[in-house]
Amino acid sequence: MNSFSFQNPTKIVFGQGTVGQLANLVAPFGKTVLVVYGGGSIKRSGLYDQVIAQLNSIGAKVVELSGIEPNPRLTSVNKGIELCRSEKVDLILAVGGGSVIDAAKAIAAGTKYEGDVWDFMMHKAEIKDALPIGTILTLSATGSEMNGNAVISNWETKQKRAFGSLHVYPRFSILDPTLTYTVPRDQTVNGVVDIMSHVFEQYFTLTENAPLQERLCESVLLTVIENAEKALENPNDYEARANLMLCGTMALNGGLISVGTQNDWASHGIEHEISAIYDIPHGAGLSIVFPNWMKHVYKERIDRFTQYAERVWGIERGTKSDEELALAGIEATREFFTRIGAPSTLAYYDIDSEHLDVMSREAVLFGPLGNFKKLHQEDVRQILENAL
Ligand code: NAP
Ligand code: FE
Repeated sequence: MNSFSFQNPTKIVFGQGTVGQLANLVAPFGKTVLVVYGGGSIKRSGLYDQVIAQLNSIGAKVVELSGIEPNPRLTSVNKGIELCRSEKVDLILAVGGGSVIDAAKAIAAGTKYEGDVWDFMMHKAEIKDALPIGTILTLSATGSEMNGNAVISNWETKQKRAFGSLHVYPRFSILDPTLTYTVPRDQTVNGVVDIMSHVFEQYFTLTENAPLQERLCESVLLTVIENAEKALENPNDYEARANLMLCGTMALNGGLISVGTQNDWASHGIEHEISAIYDIPHGAGLSIVFPNWMKHVYKERIDRFTQYAERVWGIERGTKSDEELALAGIEATREFFTRIGAPSTLAYYDIDSEHLDVMSREAVLFGPLGNFKKLHQEDVRQILENAL
């Protein structure tokens, strides 16, 4: 195990009816609140009305930014920054999924920065300050409700890039599993794949002697696998939705489940290049990329993959060689994704080889990807070709 420091400042308020605590959570931050949301799901579900009633009850001045796109765009972030400055916003309240929360984080940091907010995504500037953020999560997937990461798309340059900072961790996040009852089937599936992928990025590591972290990762994976199909069969299954929500938050909250180990993140890097050009859902892209990444890298440390096959998928070794067992675990991953309805090939989105060069070049813009195996442009291209 490596040495580490860990800090996570987000207060989580979890459970049915917790939106009722919003007024008390917002009050300490001031009077002017920018409510950020997406394309209208919160209006259809009635959540929007509850939020406004809570804010009215403390006499807050409400400023709104709606229409945040899935794969949130820089143009929306810039609109939010202008609003925060002109309206002197005290707190940003993100109500939605990862896209809305990520946009809120970029707005929060961009408002306090004189230059172009895109500088943060291009590693040209470091975040030194940000407006406070609170969130109400409506989709279990990204962990953005309890981490300091944001991923923003620049549609002009066809780039999708991330930043991370302690300054943009939400101050509080309300997690009410009943708010996810209305998440459509395909988005539930995308969320499940994203959560599992966040764990994979941490579980497949070269760091030795971290048995607690390994089991924490395996336990999140097992819990997601146990609950995904329950939530798909019955979208209003409270326990299934609650378990998925907690798993999403635990899977990526500053690295609690993988403290002291080296993480990978190559598959996320590759997926971002696909979404940057084709604007496909993040989880769907990961479902296509991850099994292909696994096949490309498993020989680097085969015992990690045999352990995965045995402990997560319950595959018995029997007479199998290490290689057969590792491959069986990878195949079980693919089968599970397929069974819940996640795509396995780029062809599913009519994506052909046209932009493979650009995607593989952009993926390594800041150097080789990943740690389990360092991926160079040719590796990324090979993984994408195998995914066609
Ligand atoms: P999302 O893009 O936030 O939302 C996807 C869709 O689900 C939207 O159309 C949204 O509709 C709808 N939706 C959300 N909640 C709903 C509900 N309760 N009922 C009905 N529809 C609902 O999805 P996401 O997977 O959470 O976020 C994906 C983004 O996060 C990607 O850009 C990805 O790269 C990024 N990401 C960030 C992190 C991180 O750590 N920050 C990690 C992984 C991925 P409305 O717009 O109408 O609300
Ligand atoms: Fe992700």
